[in-house]
Amino acid sequence: MFRILFRLYLVTIVSFSAAIYLVPDLVIKVFHERFLTYNLDYSRGLQTLIVKQFHAVPQEQWPALAAEMDREFAPLHIALTGNDDADFTLDERERLQRGENVVRIGDWGWRTLAVSPLNEQTVVEMIVPPDPTDVSWLYWSINVLIGATMLACLLLWLRPHWRDLERLKGTAERFGKGQLGERTRISPNSNIGSLANVFDTMAGDIENLLNQQRDLLNAVSHELRTPLTRLDFGLALALSDDLPAASRERLQGLVAHIRELDELVLELLSYSRLQNPARLPEQVEVSLDEFIDSILGSVDEELESPDIVIDVLLHGQLERFSLDPRLTARALQNLLRNAMRYCEKRIQIGVKVCPKGCEIWVDDDGIGIPDDERERIFEPFYRLDRSRDRATGGFGLGLAISRRALEAQGGTLTVEASPLGGARFRLWLPTPV
Ligand code: ADP
Repeated sequence: MFRILFRLYLVTIVSFSAAIYLVPDLVIKVFHERFLTYNLDYSRGLQTLIVKQFHAVPQEQWPALAAEMDREFAPLHIALTGNDDADFTLDERERLQRGENVVRIGDWGWRTLAVSPLNEQTVVEMIVPPDPTDVSWLYWSINVLIGATMLACLLLWLRPHWRDLERLKGTAERFGKGQLGERTRISPNSNIGSLANVFDTMAGDIENLLNQQRDLLNAVSHELRTPLTRLDFGLALALSDDLPAASRERLQGLVAHIRELDELVLELLSYSRLQNPARLPEQVEVSLDEFIDSILGSVDEELESPDIVIDVLLHGQLERFSLDPRLTARALQNLLRNAMRYCEKRIQIGVKVCPKGCEIWVDDDGIGIPDDERERIFEPFYRLDRSRDRATGGFGLGLAISRRALEAQGGTLTVEASPLGGARFRLWLPTPV
């Protein structure tokens, strides 16, 4: 926001300064003749008086009179010179030879020189010197003050816009984090009222769509569970000992498929439950090392190879930390199961608590996750390498569930390369306020 204001101010001040210096020059160039005649008229009286003074004394006394007038007219300079002086332009020389007055104009159309002929050769010059430094500074400070006034007006004008834009930004951020009920509620009279209204309508539509999708997912998953349980039960009954071996094997295959389907439905149900905005996370203070221990215990049996080593690194002094144990354990179990599936030999769990929150990371030495897939793997049903993953039996829901479980607590879950060579899943939970 500050950047917008700064840029707007910079553009305004640069164009204002450029205009101040270019526009007068341009106008004076275009209307040069008018400015000249105006200045000639303006200084005619003074010039006539000076010429009269010179004509009142003999010509030999002109230099002495010029010196005396120079002193009296200071800081203006009064000097005598010839009408063919090389300093004069051709045009000025011609005018002087015709016996006409000459003026020269500088910045802002101000007179810098006024010359009057005294006789056929001699002319008297009245030179206006440049402004003294302190006066130049005063002119500069006028410009600076004008700039400051513009900034003040800009700030005054921008304040309500700024406040509304900040509110829109905050709402968009909270909405993006899953608080689907957030609306800007900016007055329609605001200058960004129509934009805010479009945003609120869009947010309402998205909320409705997501709610419908969640309800549908929930309803379908619930409806599927009953027939699946019946099928499982029916097949278990049909699997009697007197069945021929081939049929028995086929039925056992069917039971396995049904159990897989049941597992998918359960995963879908947990995913849709986590999407429920009404569900508030619990806050239970746990001792982090005991918590990690219990999670390791819960997945220990799934370790396929006894050669896999799991290290736990506890950084610094681990205090107790408030979190939702069910949601956090769910996320960590998923991460550990994945690490067990994809690692070669080593898994490392790191835990660090700082005043702002708690960081837990799960490293493995497996094949890792390519850079361009690191966001996509958190999408539901997204699996990286299908042939490889099907062998591991996942549905592609684990990481989506884990991320939601953390986001529901205001935390994050990201993935990066691990120093062990594989993937590092970094879990962050903020300290509850
Ligand atoms: P699934 O339940 O199928 O494992 P996930 O959502 O847990 O689904 O994971 C999504 C994909 O991310 C997986 O199919 C896998 O390709 C990849 N993945 C997850 N964890 C790891 C890991 N530790 N190392 C390498 N790839 C991983």
